[in-house]
Amino acid sequence: MLYPWQKNDYQKLASSFLRGNFHALLIYGGIRCGTNTLMDELLQFMLCHQRNGLDACGSCPSCRLYQEHNHPDLYILAADETEERKTLQIKVNQIREVTEFVYRSSHLSGTKVVYLPRLQELNISSANALLKILEEPPVDCIFILQAEDIARVMPTIKSRCLKYSVTRPTYEQAVAVLDSSADIDFWLRYYDGEPLFEIPFTVEQKKLLIETLQTPSISNIFTLTKELDPKKIGMAKLLEFFIKWQSDLMQVACACSPSYFVDSNQALQQLARRLNKDKLYALQDDSIFLLEWHNHPLNHKLQLENLLLKYQQIYV
Ligand SMILES: [Zn+2]
Repeated sequence: MLYPWQKNDYQKLASSFLRGNFHALLIYGGIRCGTNTLMDELLQFMLCHQRNGLDACGSCPSCRLYQEHNHPDLYILAADETEERKTLQIKVNQIREVTEFVYRSSHLSGTKVVYLPRLQELNISSANALLKILEEPPVDCIFILQAEDIARVMPTIKSRCLKYSVTRPTYEQAVAVLDSSADIDFWLRYYDGEPLFEIPFTVEQKKLLIETLQTPSISNIFTLTKELDPKKIGMAKLLEFFIKWQSDLMQVACACSPSYFVDSNQALQQLARRLNKDKLYALQDDSIFLLEWHNHPLNHKLQLENLLLKYQQIYV
């Protein structure tokens, strides 16, 4: 079922497909806006053999195979999640399989679709191999690529695709799909108004995080890393919280309002007065670097403590 904010996107994309406007479509943005749901409806529609206007029929052999996740003319190109790697990657030999798929004839004599739900899983080699297919796309084969951040998509890939940014929900639409809880406004702001999130911290954990960031004393820092062990909580979640706090701190230091921690505005103002901006820039770089490597088996607790001790040093 589509979310209310997706209906217009669906209609535009489905009619664009019928008009043959694209061989490759690049969908981007809105990671927590349910884009997978939109893709699910669209893929079924594209593969359906008895389309009803802009809807899939839901009962033809093609629709049934799709619903059983067993459609021979759909190839989902994604990294193998069972592999233990620091970052999941699509390998070149997977692209070879795609090549075989796109050049053989369709099983159900209809459209064939190659779907990449996470474009960021391509590495340089697999992206270049894929590009060769995109340059000479076989007839009746459509590529659907999905990216979180279009800025990180290779320009050569972008230039081969019709680009489409998904619609984000309004505040009212977002609130309507969330369970009501006291902190919901905070988390909705924290996730940039995108409602399909899981709250990463309990009320107490969030309180402890904010207290430590407001008063980064040695004892608060050690209490935090003890209570919120990055190994159990997840390093990425903690880093994201920390990075957003730093971003608000910089905004306040530049006489803007905070984007996320609006209730801590006063505390942020006070901290900004004692802030060494150059040190904050360096800390932001370090934090983002660590976030990119959060899957690496480093000693996360030690890393987090180091980062928080550096955070303590940005104030004079
Ligand atoms: Zn159908």
